[in-house]
Amino acid sequence: MRILITGGAGFIGSHLSEALLDAGHEVSILDNLSTGSIDNIAHLKARPGFTYHIDSVNNEPLLAELIDHADVVFHFAAAVGVKLIVEQPVHTIETNVHGTEVVLKHANKKKKLVVIASTSEVYGKSGNVPFSEDSDLVMGPTPKHRWAYACSKAIDEFLALAYWKERKLPVIIVRFFNTVGPRQTGQYGMVIPNFVRQAIAGEPVTVFGDGTQSRSFTHVADVVRALITLITEPRAVGQVINIGNTEEISIRALAERILAATGSASPIRLIPYDEAYESGFEDMPRRVPDLTKIHQMIGYEPRHTLDDILRDVIESFRKR
Ligand code: UDP
Repeated sequence: MRILITGGAGFIGSHLSEALLDAGHEVSILDNLSTGSIDNIAHLKARPGFTYHIDSVNNEPLLAELIDHADVVFHFAAAVGVKLIVEQPVHTIETNVHGTEVVLKHANKKKKLVVIASTSEVYGKSGNVPFSEDSDLVMGPTPKHRWAYACSKAIDEFLALAYWKERKLPVIIVRFFNTVGPRQTGQYGMVIPNFVRQAIAGEPVTVFGDGTQSRSFTHVADVVRALITLITEPRAVGQVINIGNTEEISIRALAERILAATGSASPIRLIPYDEAYESGFEDMPRRVPDLTKIHQMIGYEPRHTLDDILRDVIESFRKR
């Protein structure tokens, strides 16, 4: 198949590109390198069937042409990372909402299958774990910019589902749960690459809040495998689907696990949320996916544990 990946030079997009090429597909990517990096795709440039365009989804004539040429579109171009989102709320809302609008509009012309990357962030601060796809979304108030990200992604979901319902555009919406792996940068706030870099550099490991908040991390290889299977599953069309891992860990315990795995003597430093992000910042206490739907649909089970993730990330940082 011919596959277009917007945001293909990003962390998840670059792993997906590689796996699709390995499976014999043609891959073209569109990425403006705002958070993606040319380094992520350097090893793919010479591969047959791979083309890349360094441009924005706002270049509509180019986007239209690339979509026209594709059988399937993965729309991964978005503002990501809590730090970036809190610091650049205008950019976040405009990028996430407008980008999805134009992708869906052009895909609709010839009814190309679109996979929309959404996020477990949409579940907001609900304490009702594990989160299943039809759970309520519990957002905080609008002056707290963190929630702009969740709302912008929820609008993307609404719009994609509306295109499916009203215009029969085939869409699949995937909600990622803290995807991690080699090539992810800590620059936009993600916790595991940050902790690993700090531990290896001998710097204090910065735990925000009291560290009792928890997450469940997913290896990017599991995510990519799920994505490639989902585009062949007709029952996935018109659906919202969690992709994650149910192994849960508190952020404090994660810091300790990373210190042990790297053999680092770095201290753990607790930093109040107000200082780490912005005054009045609200975090989610827990985030665990219910994976029943994706398991029933394509037999998905995560194959990588948190220890596998940490091993791969630590190794990739040591190679840098
Ligand atoms: N976090 C932390 N130290 C860091 C970066 C993040 O303690 O240097 C915490 C963050 O406050 C959150 C968790 O780690 O509770 C996961 O953060 P991340 O930004 O990776 O993803 P999120 O789940 O918040 O989208």
